[in-house]
Amino acid sequence: MARRSRARRRALAALTALAFACAARAAALDWPVAARVITGTFGEDRGDHFHNGIDIGGGSQPVHPVLDGEVVFRYDDGSDYTSLPRGLGSFIVLRHDPHIRTLYAHLQAGSLGPVRDRYAANDRIGVIGETGHANGPHLHFAVFDEEAGSTINPLEFLPPVPDHQAPVIRRLYARVGDRLVPLDNGSILKPGKTSIVADTYDLREDVAFRWPLAPLSATISLDGREVSRISFDSLQVEGGHMVAGAAGLTREQVWDPGELLICGTLDLKPGDSALRLSVRDLAGNEAVRAVSITVSP
Ligand SMILES: [Zn+2]
Repeated sequence: MARRSRARRRALAALTALAFACAARAAALDWPVAARVITGTFGEDRGDHFHNGIDIGGGSQPVHPVLDGEVVFRYDDGSDYTSLPRGLGSFIVLRHDPHIRTLYAHLQAGSLGPVRDRYAANDRIGVIGETGHANGPHLHFAVFDEEAGSTINPLEFLPPVPDHQAPVIRRLYARVGDRLVPLDNGSILKPGKTSIVADTYDLREDVAFRWPLAPLSATISLDGREVSRISFDSLQVEGGHMVAGAAGLTREQVWDPGELLICGTLDLKPGDSALRLSVRDLAGNEAVRAVSITVSP
């Protein structure tokens, strides 16, 4: 745990330094595309892994680096390299300081232009495509801190885009053995360790259709006291796995099948309690579900 929070502090310090360096050069950190339609958020359940970046739709449009950067790697889909990972399609990785790297994936085959060593922020890297494992054209954009071994939620530091749409909490459950028991006012639970599971998602106004996204955080309070919190601000690599939050939770500990968010595991004590779930998105919009429950003796 100490190592994890140290790594996270390092990642945040590195990003702060990076942002400061940008400000000093009067070159603001900017979005990689002009039309910002976010169709995938950080930390989402992707079957066997957390989604480690954001997906940006908005059609086939030019992609620019978020900052000046040195090319660490580039691969044009269709090139004859059979040993390379194919899921990302055509992609470029840039290094912006000794530790911070950005990834631009699923670019149109052949849109990368001539091989080069560096890109300035206003240069064109390529065009949004759907090479690799992609359902429709989109840019997969991710930010890595190599030193800290962490992946950072890009929405934490890209300039904010307007979002007044609050997350949605459709249903609240307690996991009892292999069953999900709906939680309502007056629900009676047994004492002991119980996971609270929510059917919850975020919506954004930049997506014109209904498109559920992972929220940024979920916090559970019991009788006004915060007892559990899960947040997708960064993911750490630990033992070859990605883990989330200060508690270092694996994907299986965060996502129940059916994209249900496991908001926390409580140690329930007999008596009446007010249980409150707060779900937030990055813009600070909040959804709340509060129920009074009784824990039997
Ligand atoms: Zn993606």
